[in-house]
Amino acid sequence: MDSCVCATLAARDHNAAALHISYGQRTEARERQSFERICDRLGIQQRLAVRNEALKMIGGSALTDRNIAVPESHPIGHDIPVTYVPFRNAHFLAVAVSWAEVLGASKIYIGAVEQDSSGYPDCRPAYYQAYNQVVRAGTKEGDIEVVTPLIAMRKSEIVRLGLELGAPFDLTWSCYSREDRACGVCDSCVLRLKAFQDAGAADPLPYVPVVEKV
Ligand SMILES: [Zn+2]
Repeated sequence: MDSCVCATLAARDHNAAALHISYGQRTEARERQSFERICDRLGIQQRLAVRNEALKMIGGSALTDRNIAVPESHPIGHDIPVTYVPFRNAHFLAVAVSWAEVLGASKIYIGAVEQDSSGYPDCRPAYYQAYNQVVRAGTKEGDIEVVTPLIAMRKSEIVRLGLELGAPFDLTWSCYSREDRACGVCDSCVLRLKAFQDAGAADPLPYVPVVEKV
């Protein structure tokens, strides 16, 4: 959902290219399908789909290790949830920066959200400030910037912004555990459902009916 709103903003303001990374996460096939459909809808022609083998081999997350169950949502606290994929966004951004250098792109959009989110350390503003220093120091021209337009927004504000922009929410996928219909009970589903509810909007995704939940 956050990536989709970012992609919509990028495609509105720039000649955008889109990067997708599969990393052995449970819902990778569904997410890849969403990526292609969202690019089609937004008219983004230039696409790169990459596979990261390291994150799944390293494991340590409920998203990449089948032996760690995806938990039902719990109140957001100070603990980093087991769905955190260790240092994942650094891998994503490294690929994006390499590609940006080759394309001659000057901005990299990422849908990191700090408030209302799961508390992942690689979604904090300080992380992106530090990452941008690495990018300036480590690239040929030093003129590429990672931008996080949603980082300070509440999830309901992101829904409202997406609706204003015509972001294709119907094509997105947020569920951590299922690919056919969203489970409705994982952290990602619960945050998403609450965001739509708080925004007074209907979530277009199919959810598992409550009676079918075991
Ligand atoms: Zn879910």
